[in-house]
Amino acid sequence: MPLSQRLLTAEAVAGQVDLHCHSSASDGILSPEALVSRAKLAGVTLLALTDHDTVAGFAAAQAAADQENIVLLPGIELTARWGRQVVHIVGLNIDPASAAMGVAIDTRDQLRDQRAREIAARLEKRGFVGALEGARRLAGAGVIGRPHFARWLVEAGHLPDEGKAFKRYLGSGKAGDVAVAWPDMADTIGSIHAAGGAAVLAHPLKYGLTRMRLQSLLGEFHGAGGDAVEVVCGQQNPVQTREILALLERVGAVREKGKPLLASLGSDFHQPDQPWRELGSVRLPEGVEPVWALWRT
Ligand code: AMP
Ligand code: MN
Ligand code: MN
Ligand code: MN
Repeated sequence: MPLSQRLLTAEAVAGQVDLHCHSSASDGILSPEALVSRAKLAGVTLLALTDHDTVAGFAAAQAAADQENIVLLPGIELTARWGRQVVHIVGLNIDPASAAMGVAIDTRDQLRDQRAREIAARLEKRGFVGALEGARRLAGAGVIGRPHFARWLVEAGHLPDEGKAFKRYLGSGKAGDVAVAWPDMADTIGSIHAAGGAAVLAHPLKYGLTRMRLQSLLGEFHGAGGDAVEVVCGQQNPVQTREILALLERVGAVREKGKPLLASLGSDFHQPDQPWRELGSVRLPEGVEPVWALWRT
């Protein structure tokens, strides 16, 4: 096990665990410090900061976690590609300063920059002038993403809310849904492993895949060395959780060798006014092996 990996005591996982959330280093609203304070208030004892394609918020979050006496794992949510499908792979307990993470982040930085220009060009064609500057301003020093375009469209008075911005212009199949050659899922798992972390398939039910396709995604994720799957992410009803567990069982049944897929969970918190994905609001079902078993002392 690489030295960079943090080991966890029983105390660290005695309260709420939240292994998926965003700060203003990507598309979250809170600063890393404010995020950690809010997690503490919510009873979180183990938190992973998993900003999209960046670890820039980690140092500030760590300083706050030391103050608040909560255990923080360095994490990231890497954008990746499974065939033509975009998937999100969370890296947990990575070494944020590793060369492998540096390369993975730089690659996506360039792709995001190119994509932002293309999104802006397409929005300008539809009469939304100043989109690039606006989205960049809202992203600040953080990684730019579609939510910043959505926020700008709302701020500029073009649309009433961000949901509509995705529905009309930024979501799947819309003008601002630019095809990007994100690194492949298997490469992404490799980058996370090279950085000493565990690779977790984020929110399996949010890709809009049929059950058959989802099963093959899980099988390929496992075959490529993936470690865990988010069994609970954000707002999710018990039926959906059972669906994921059933899929994991089926993947396990066809698996001939290798380790089982572990269970992860996270709120996918982005901002305070979304109670359906509040920090520390998720819990694993009974009977699953949690991903943090990898790091228990
Ligand atoms: P990006 O990584 O830049 O492509 O942006 C993806 C992010 O956009 C996700 O992590 C969500 O935070 C946000 N997002 C995606 N779809 C929607 C939607 N329909 N409504 C609001 N936010 C969304
Ligand atoms: Mn996001
Ligand atoms: Mn995601
Ligand atoms: Mn996320």
